Amino acid sequence: MSKYIFVTGGVVSSVGKGITVASIGTILKSRQIAVSAQKLDPYLNVDPGTMSPYQHGEVFVTQDGAETDLDLGNYERFIDVELTTDSSVTSGQIYSSVITKERRGDFLGGTIQVVPHVTTEIKERFHHLAEKSKADVVIIEVGGTVGDIEGQPFLEAIRQMRNDVGRDNVLYVHVTLLPYLNSTQEVKTKPTQHSVNELRRIGIQPDIIVCRSDYPISEDIRDKISLFCDVEKKAVISLPTVSTIYEVPLVLEEAGLGQLIADKLKLKLNPRSSDLKHWKELVDLIKTPRQAVNIALVGKYVELKDAYFSVREALHHAVLHHGRDIKLNWVPSESLENGGDSSILRSAQGIVVPGGFGVRGIEGMVKAATYAREKGIPYLGLCLGMQVMVIEFARHVLGSDEPNSTEFDAKTRYPVIDLLPDQKDKKTKGGTMRLGNYPCQLVDGSRAARAYGQDLIQERHRHRYELNNQYRAQLEKGGMVFSGLSPDGRLVELCELADHPWMVSCQFHPEFGSRPGRPHPLFRDFIGVAKDILREGAQTSLPLSSQS
Ligand code: GLN
Repeated sequence: MSKYIFVTGGVVSSVGKGITVASIGTILKSRQIAVSAQKLDPYLNVDPGTMSPYQHGEVFVTQDGAETDLDLGNYERFIDVELTTDSSVTSGQIYSSVITKERRGDFLGGTIQVVPHVTTEIKERFHHLAEKSKADVVIIEVGGTVGDIEGQPFLEAIRQMRNDVGRDNVLYVHVTLLPYLNSTQEVKTKPTQHSVNELRRIGIQPDIIVCRSDYPISEDIRDKISLFCDVEKKAVISLPTVSTIYEVPLVLEEAGLGQLIADKLKLKLNPRSSDLKHWKELVDLIKTPRQAVNIALVGKYVELKDAYFSVREALHHAVLHHGRDIKLNWVPSESLENGGDSSILRSAQGIVVPGGFGVRGIEGMVKAATYAREKGIPYLGLCLGMQVMVIEFARHVLGSDEPNSTEFDAKTRYPVIDLLPDQKDKKTKGGTMRLGNYPCQLVDGSRAARAYGQDLIQERHRHRYELNNQYRAQLEKGGMVFSGLSPDGRLVELCELADHPWMVSCQFHPEFGSRPGRPHPLFRDFIGVAKDILREGAQTSLPLSSQS
């Protein structure tokens, strides 16, 4: 039977609860314990994927096509598992399911209440994930902060779990912030005491408190928290801000969290010690000064870096593989439009155009693609980035500025990106997206095939539009290679330019599959070529000789 770790957050949001969950996963896995993870999001949206990237950052897509919160991406990268739709639960899904059951008559006319109906539905999601994943330990993150109105049913459900499955099978971890007051130069524990009181008020006594702070906390502070919050001192874990998120598992392990969890949950360990050697090597490498590769990321949501969380991580994994660092220039695509200043691209050794929806900023991305093609700058197009590359190339080949996607210009004379004929009669937007894993056959000898080193791959999708097959022949004649196709040949999944150092794009989202220590092949090869590109101002000056 699986055991459960419930992780709640106190004081404020964004203190790194998701990374803490992911890191707990890492340190348990390093002890050969099978783990899975789940995120409970207290908002009423049924699909986190329909929410604006400006509000919630990137939409992460699981292999089975769930559009989820970006925390799932961190769980996957840290624990190195592939999660499914079972790992993402919103209040909207819970209520929608309870109401559907009520309408169907499942409750035989009973009064439907938050306790027990909603809480039972929530607990079923815990059990379901445990059964399906067969994990020894399921780590469940309660989104939001303790005290939020929306989070109450989730907290009540996790409270009930201790009685349902037994004391030794449930652990509560509370992640809080200890603010630092500049005026008195001290770290304050009061907000933590309040948030633990709030938890206790509903019947949850945390077993472990993870204290986030910008400075390491003293023994006195740990004593104080231990006393006021009624938690053993060794279970008050200090987690100061570190320079890279990948260091968090090491800090927590060092603080004894792995052993503490193992003891409290009475986990049978084999072997007993943890093996975080790869993580140590990774963090050492991250901390070693390395020469940077200049990459421009041309997108429409660049003001909010979290909107491209996985892309940024995948780029980091790739530069590390090559022993390099990255200087990432976030270029708002609109700034390149209407004669806008493109000088920022002059220092770029590689250009990435990531995913996105809607017409805003598209022409700026096309301009970046023209720049990459004409100047021979490595280009990696991700989903929308592939559509942009195709639009740009079609404009070049057809000698017209009209080719476009019908998403951006419904009446274009050259719809090089379009809905498939069988998608067109669907009136609503729901259900028309291609989501999750699809197979792709790679073309021998292509850059894509070389990168992957295999010919059949599976990659995650999240898009509505496709390359229009009517233009394949013309594009091919102009020098575009369709290097990856769906096995039935109907859909173009990857394209590249024959006559270019490395201009490769994919209709899917490879960034979700990249891992620290195991970069995604497309990102790896993109950086591999980009790192050797010499850009303006980057040439080393010749030694001056006074002899001649
Ligand atoms: N907007 C494009 C489509 O729907 C691309 C989507 C994306 O980049 N994820 O096809």
